[in-house]
Amino acid sequence: MTSQSPDTKITFTSPVRAPSAVPVDDAVIPFEVNALDLRGRLTRMGPALDEILTKHDYPAPVGKLLGEAIVLTTLLGSSLKFDGRFILQAQTDGPVSFLIVDFQAPDRLRAYARYDVKRLTPGLDSGALLGKGHLAMTIDQGPDMSRYQGLVALDGGGLEEAAHEYFLRSEQIPTRVRIAVGEEFRGGEGGKHRWRAGGLLMQFLPKAPDRARQADLHPGDAPEGTELHTVAEDDAWVEGQSLIRTVEDLELIDPDLSGERLLYRLFHERGVRVFKPLALQARCSCSREAVSSMLKSFEPKDRAEMVKDGKVVVTCEFCSSVYEFSPAEAGAEDA
Ligand SMILES: [Zn+2]
Repeated sequence: MTSQSPDTKITFTSPVRAPSAVPVDDAVIPFEVNALDLRGRLTRMGPALDEILTKHDYPAPVGKLLGEAIVLTTLLGSSLKFDGRFILQAQTDGPVSFLIVDFQAPDRLRAYARYDVKRLTPGLDSGALLGKGHLAMTIDQGPDMSRYQGLVALDGGGLEEAAHEYFLRSEQIPTRVRIAVGEEFRGGEGGKHRWRAGGLLMQFLPKAPDRARQADLHPGDAPEGTELHTVAEDDAWVEGQSLIRTVEDLELIDPDLSGERLLYRLFHERGVRVFKPLALQARCSCSREAVSSMLKSFEPKDRAEMVKDGKVVVTCEFCSSVYEFSPAEAGAEDA
């Protein structure tokens, strides 16, 4: 059945239908598995992801990593119920030293990465590309609301691992995340490839909070020899985790497998309910006006230094749009 949001009241007379076989790209499907107290979201991305990554012409490993960050952002940010913003940022000592994904509810995505091409040696996985540093997740609800920022350390692991760490430590909600990014090669277009991605986020949200206990909290700085407190996880969560472990990367990015079919494949024994999908689009929020007012906020000396060949050129790092100003327009005529 399809309804407005996961919070919609559920009745026992909800209609049941077969999972749609039609794949829908650039969308997030919220779902729930009531029998296991699981809630989650499934992201499938095609053209919007390809547009963001192709505009920058990133080397493949950088594109894949940024794609993973984009998928993670859609999984986390699409739960925002307001016209807010979710920003995922990684700052590290690795070959990809900075990346940012900016999600503006309800559907706008933009992103870019900075990398050192000399350090992109073959065979580096996403964890090695990031290296050590931190991942920051910022929720911005507008000027009248306080910003929320969650931080998690990056220590050679990938983004899935960082997400697990974040939910374990900060939110204390049992959570599993799967992310896959790949390049699709189809004949007939001169060997042209397209980026595709998929991701799944699943959370255990039982009514009794006691059931949400988690087994793998690190003992921290307990003295040596301390007997570790072992916690048995709830059977429903154990089952949920074993199901999500069976998801293969190929299934997450398969352009011919619909998201509903994938969810059905995973959870059909327990029954899965899907909600109205949320569309995603690659769209930058930059504009000539915004760049112009940014220039005006600079010191006159800095504006003057930006004049090259009789003009000021500003390139948007997110979408590569180029904005040209005369020195007078840029407030730099005193150079
Ligand atoms: Zn832009």
